[in-house]
Amino acid sequence: MRENLIDLVHNSTLKTVNGKVATYIPALAEADGQQFSVCLTDINQSYEYGDTETTFTLQSVVKVISFMLAADHHGLTMMMDFVDVEPTGDSFNSIVRLESANTKPFNPMINAGAITVASLLPGETPTEKVEVVTSFLEKLLQKEITINQKIYQSEYDSADHNRAIAYILKANGYLEAGVENAIQTYLQLCSIEVTVGDLAEIALFFAQDGQNERICIDGAILKVSKALMLTCGMYNSSGKFAAFVGLPAKSGVSGAIIAVVKSGMIEDLKGPIGIGLYGPAIDTVGNSVAGVDFLMELVKKYNLSVF
Ligand code: GLN
Repeated sequence: MRENLIDLVHNSTLKTVNGKVATYIPALAEADGQQFSVCLTDINQSYEYGDTETTFTLQSVVKVISFMLAADHHGLTMMMDFVDVEPTGDSFNSIVRLESANTKPFNPMINAGAITVASLLPGETPTEKVEVVTSFLEKLLQKEITINQKIYQSEYDSADHNRAIAYILKANGYLEAGVENAIQTYLQLCSIEVTVGDLAEIALFFAQDGQNERICIDGAILKVSKALMLTCGMYNSSGKFAAFVGLPAKSGVSGAIIAVVKSGMIEDLKGPIGIGLYGPAIDTVGNSVAGVDFLMELVKKYNLSVF
């Protein structure tokens, strides 16, 4: 009964009051904090709830996509020379663990690791590197992908903290490109514009282990990408999220989340299922409050935890 899902969406929408839209990137502050939308999709059909036409930026959700594509190009061994796969328990933009010259960024889901990964994308210029990700998304989503220039400019103009991270990475040998190149690439990737339906399709691709009729990513890379989502995908709430939701997921400060159900049933949806959520009111860690609440209830109701 789809009413079950409507109730879940309704109850989670009420939780938006417990969060606040991100303001540290000025243009993100313009989002409507009361909004919450959801898309669930299997290979045959989708359910959508809320204002699903709204577009927003991927922000940190892109980190798992750029990691997957950089690893697809270089192989996992080379990636591991530049970025580890360990959770930190620190905030997403933390700089503290980078101090030692021998310490590579802990994982590609935090800013430090994602800036390193951005520099490793094939191509020379930021435009060429970003195109690796946008072409992948165009092939996957079968639509034209754009960068939200207003968000990009706003992030670029307020990127001192990310620049500081990039300088340390460069000094310690964990940046393949120059600082400006890596920052421009990383911030454009964060500013890729999507809908909640697009998020669900992206999540479905991970649920299908990176194989569909148009695209095929190496299975070992997919495993690592999903392990990273499970252990590091929800910032420094990843442990709680694994314990109380138990799905590979990745969030962004725009309020976007993708969650991956490798096999399960949600009403008439079955098999691999992709879940996209958008609720710009985020908690202090940076995760959509309504999104996390919805996933927690959904997983309980339909018994979806990987554990
Ligand atoms: N572009 C954002 C930043 O670097 C992404 C952060 C996020 O979504 N957590 O600060």
